[in-house]
Amino acid sequence: RAHCNPLSNGKWEDLPTAPDSFREDAHFESAFLDKLRMEKKGEKEAKITFADIGCGFGGLLVRLSPLFPKELIIGMEIRAQVSEYVRERALALRKEHPGEYQNISGLRTNSMKFLPNYFQRGQLKKLFFLFPDPHFKRSKRRRRIIQTALIAEYAFCLREGGILYTQTDVEDVGDWMKEKLDMHPLFRPMTEEELNSDVCVELLRRGTPTEEGQKVKRNSGSTWLHCYVRVHGNPRY
Ligand code: SAM
Repeated sequence: RAHCNPLSNGKWEDLPTAPDSFREDAHFESAFLDKLRMEKKGEKEAKITFADIGCGFGGLLVRLSPLFPKELIIGMEIRAQVSEYVRERALALRKEHPGEYQNISGLRTNSMKFLPNYFQRGQLKKLFFLFPDPHFKRSKRRRRIIQTALIAEYAFCLREGGILYTQTDVEDVGDWMKEKLDMHPLFRPMTEEELNSDVCVELLRRGTPTEEGQKVKRNSGSTWLHCYVRVHGNPRY
């Protein structure tokens, strides 16, 4: 069950073979999905539009939920217990605050392998990579979550105008992510004006709401934030 998530009915959710077979209702209440569909007239289904890759314990999801109540937001995490914690955290928040936190959940997956199994072309509006594992050793750098081949996949999942956010407390990793994204023809850096008017950038600049970000803040560490816009063009793998 390497990439399965427990469903509320005690069964298991399999890795979707394609985005069409991904079950949103395994993560979000059917009534909430219906409500979103009704509100977003013309859309057949309510789909996930924000993804936090390597979400850890889900701090970002909790902060984004009230800011974007009409977006479905998923945290993707490779560690089984941590991803389950995120799912349960969302369920507990829904119970504690009826009508709120309906739009966030977490799932277990290896996003470096399976992202296109979950998202259709152009489905996502925002992708977050916050404090990714640094993989310091030169021989391990191919394990970094931001690298050229994977950026093509991120471009595939993001719609034109969608935003990819990266943040790290390791300057070398920040430089690496910046260099790879600067080189990629399907992304351009956000302008100063765009950065200043983006509510997520504001959140990340103020002191990242993730557990890792909080740790850095407590230790008065520096962070490097690099944000990119998905531009027009077709991804080539
Ligand atoms: N973003 C969170 C934060 O800021 O608190 C967590 C940062 S933590 C340093 C990096 C996380 O990425 C870990 O929880 C790790 O398990 C997860 N991760 C690493 N590789 C992954 C992959 N291929 N797919 C999904 N999650 C991954």
